[in-house]
Amino acid sequence: MKKGALLPNGEYAPLQKAKYTFDFSTLKIREIAAKETGNMVRGNGFKTCPICGHHDCFRFVPNSEAFVCFSSECGAKGSIVHFIMYVKKFNYSQAVRYLLDFYFNDDSTSTTA
Ligand SMILES: [Zn+2]
Repeated sequence: MKKGALLPNGEYAPLQKAKYTFDFSTLKIREIAAKETGNMVRGNGFKTCPICGHHDCFRFVPNSEAFVCFSSECGAKGSIVHFIMYVKKFNYSQAVRYLLDFYFNDDSTSTTA
């Protein structure tokens, strides 16, 4: 009698969202990051890093749902989960929950907006 999917942090995700739990690659990091930062990091070029505030050191990895900051004082990089962790100052568990709650819709397969 499973009640949900076991997340990497040991918590359980709601069953109806379980199929998305380990596939964060379906999330569009550029769209979510733009929303979360008020369009501060839209596009593919180098931007002011929303995490450390340095200019022209932040960018999204081309052809990938990942980001990286080249500032030596920052060095933040990773997936959308890590981006949310840095920007919202969440731990991994909180970031996963945030993404599940706000960006994984149960009917997401039918919408691409
Ligand atoms: Zn940075």
